[in-house]
This record gives sequence, structure tokens and C-alpha cells, in this order.
Amino acid sequence: MTTLIESEEHKALRSAVAALGKRYGRDYLTRTVAEGRPLTELWSDAGGLGYLGVNLPEAYGGGGGGISELSIVLEELGAAGSPLLMLVVSPAICGTVIARFGTEDQKREWLPGLADGTRLMAFGITEPDAGSNSHRITTTARRDGTDWLLTGRKVFISGVDMADAVLIVGRTEDARTGRLKPCLFIVPTDSEGFRKRPIDMELNAAEKQFELVLDDVRLPASALVGEAEDAGLLQLFAGLNPERIMTAAFAIGMGRYALAKAIEYARDRTVWKAPIGAHQAIAHPLAQAHIDLELARLMMQKAAHLYDSGDDVGAGEAANMAKYAAGEACVRAVDQAVHTLGGNGLTREYGLASLITAARVARIAPVSREMILNYVSHQTLGLPKSY
Ligand SMILES: Cc1cc2nc3c(=O)[nH]c(=O)nc-3n(C[C@H](O)[C@H](O)[C@H](O)COP(=O)(O)OP(=O)(O)OC[C@H]3O[C@@H](n4cnc5c(N)ncnc54)[C@H](O)[C@@H]3O)c2cc1C
Repeated sequence: MTTLIESEEHKALRSAVAALGKRYGRDYLTRTVAEGRPLTELWSDAGGLGYLGVNLPEAYGGGGGGISELSIVLEELGAAGSPLLMLVVSPAICGTVIARFGTEDQKREWLPGLADGTRLMAFGITEPDAGSNSHRITTTARRDGTDWLLTGRKVFISGVDMADAVLIVGRTEDARTGRLKPCLFIVPTDSEGFRKRPIDMELNAAEKQFELVLDDVRLPASALVGEAEDAGLLQLFAGLNPERIMTAAFAIGMGRYALAKAIEYARDRTVWKAPIGAHQAIAHPLAQAHIDLELARLMMQKAAHLYDSGDDVGAGEAANMAKYAAGEACVRAVDQAVHTLGGNGLTREYGLASLITAARVARIAPVSREMILNYVSHQTLGLPKSY
């Protein structure tokens, strides 16, 4: 029942983060993006208040909560118009993987900084020739004495310019079978042989996406996450579920922001006798968008609850469904919000049109709508695969 009715603690966290979000809001994001810089002030204020590391263990400077709490933080900042996309990556994926599987040294080195926001870690799995099929990734680490040499290419990696390191998903050769198996490496962004190139995205966001070229990047043995090379897959799944849940939070926050703008407009704007919000053709789709966002949040809360209680398998299915539902609800809410404003929906002054592209991120990343439908078709419904 805890997932259906929000606890007093969660409500309090929600309203405290909403108050912080309100202090910044959409104008801050728009201004900062125009200046071409990251949302540093909001990031460090949120870090100082303990919101960025709310999911990380207390022993390493975190809040001792889980993804349930971190998703509230992202949703509320998004609903205020200034989402911190790097929350999906730095504390949620990287922080979770290091907290669960890192060595003691890695935990001490990284978690306090990730928790208070003074350090940031990006996450790189996507490759140009693999895309949605991450079984095909070819970034490979080979041993050189006790060191590793990492070579490969990644695309669409968010926030590399802001990050101290990137958690790179690569592969190493299994000494017994000769087969390549997934492994995660902490790669400092100032490593020799590490090159980044910004990708020109049509997105009004402070976080940029990069193509990475890793050319024999030399890494010490301690860069491999965890003690054992065999734990790569487990580590990966530990990070991917929080990523999906957090993307759902990102989408729900954005959908709520757009919907609130549309409702405000529809209450006032009068072109006949009554405000346009009195016409059901305008009111009903907004009501539907609200219902869809609420339903998506319920599934997100279920996924977060399962994940935080240690049920990785149950969380996998729920996290996929939550990401799907939230991505679709967000795209529809933004579309309807833009439409509600008529011509003003497309002006820069009202700032909604740029959300049309931003909302699509939640449909594509980190796993596309179709790949989630594939997952549910095969894993949940037991239907055969076409690929
Ligand atoms: C803004 C943004 C930020 C990102 N940040 C990061 C990041 O920080 N780190 C990172 O590693 N990655 C990141 N990504 C990458 C993202 O995860 C990928 O774009 C996503 O996984 C899809 O891969 P792709 O773009 O190669 O599309 P493709 O895999 O080429 O897919 C193209 C289309 O084909 C469809 N398709 C593919 N296979 C099938 C199939 N079997 N059945 C049906 N349809 C199929 C897909 O659904 C999609 O519609 C980011 C992407 C964006 C847009």
C-alpha cells in the first residue's frame, strides 16, 4: 500500500523540492541555455540541500533513501520547468552502480561528491553501430600488465562537458571462453586518448550530448567497477532500472509543467463568450493528459518501490512500463498544451514549442517505445521474437 498513498515524508520532500524549483523555474532554464552553460546554480543548491544524493547511502554522504525519493526530486524540478537531466545519470545510474557494486575505494572516492553534486559522472552505453541492440557494443578493454586499454566509440552521451568521469559500458575477453563480456569502467574525462565532440541537437536543454572516441585509453585496474569481472551484467541491470524510473520522472515532470501552462491559459483566454477552457474540445484532452500522467506516476512509484525493496526482476518489468507510460503521457500532454495556446503555443514568449522535441527524448531514450513493447511482448506475454 505504501506505493499507492504517498507517505508524509515523501509529501514533505515533494513540497520542499517544488519550493526550490519555483525559485528557479523556466525563466532560469531559458536564460541559462541561451548563455550556453549548465544549470550550475540549481545543481549546487539542490546538492547543498541533500536532494541530489537522496538515494545514496548515508555512510557515503547520501540521504539513505532510494530511487523513490530521487524520482520525486526530478519530477518536482521538472514540474517547475527546470529539470536536472543529469540526475538520471550521475546519482541514479552511476551512484547506484558504485554503491551496490563498487569497491570500498571507489565508494569513498566517488559517492560523497556525487551525493553533494560537487562531482558528476556521465554514463556511456550507446554506440553508433549498436543503437538499441546493446549486445552489439564493441568498446573493448584489453589488459596491458595490470592496466586496461579501452578502445571504442559512443554516441549521445549526455553531460560529458560537466562530468569528471564517464561510466563506460565496455567488454573484456573472458580468459576461459574467449567470449566478450560486459564490464563497467570509470573513465576520467581528462584521460589521454579520450576525445569528445558535441552533437548538434535540436533540444532546448542545458545538458549537451556528445560523441566519444576512446583511443587506447589507459586505465588502472581500479577503474573496473567492482572486484570481479564477472559482475558486469548484474551491475548494468542495477543501473538501467533506476535510469528508466528516472526517465519516467523526467517525463512526468515535463508533462505536468506543460499541462499547468495550458490550464492557466485556457482559464483566461476568451475568444467567444466563455474562456476556451470551457469548451470540452479543449478541456477533455487536458483532463485526459492529467489522468495519463497520474497513471504513469503510479506505475513509476510501483517500479521505484520494487527496486528500493531489492526486487530487481519485478522492478525491471515495472520500470519499463513506467518509462513507456510516462513517455507517451508526456508527448501527448505537451502536444495538447501547445495546441491549447493556439498561435501562442509556437511563440518563444510562451516557451512551450521547444518542449515538443524535448518530450520526444522520453520516447526514445534510454530505451525506445518499440523496445519496451518488444520487452513486454516477449517477457510478459511470452510472444515469439521477430529479431
Ligand atoms: C537527448 C538524448 C540523451 C541521451 N543520453 C544518453 C546517455 O547519456 N548515455 C547513453 O549511453 N545514451 C544516451 N542516449 C542514447 C539513447 O539511449 C539512444 O538514442 C536510444 O537507446 C536509441 O538508440 P538509437 O538512437 O541508436 O536508435 P536505433 O536503435 O537506431 O533505433 C531507431 C528506431 O528503430 C526502432 N527499433 C530498433 N530496433 C527495433 C526492433 N527490434 N523492433 C522495433 N523497432 C526497433 C527504435 O525503436 C527507434 O524508433 C541519449 C539519447 C538522446 C536523444
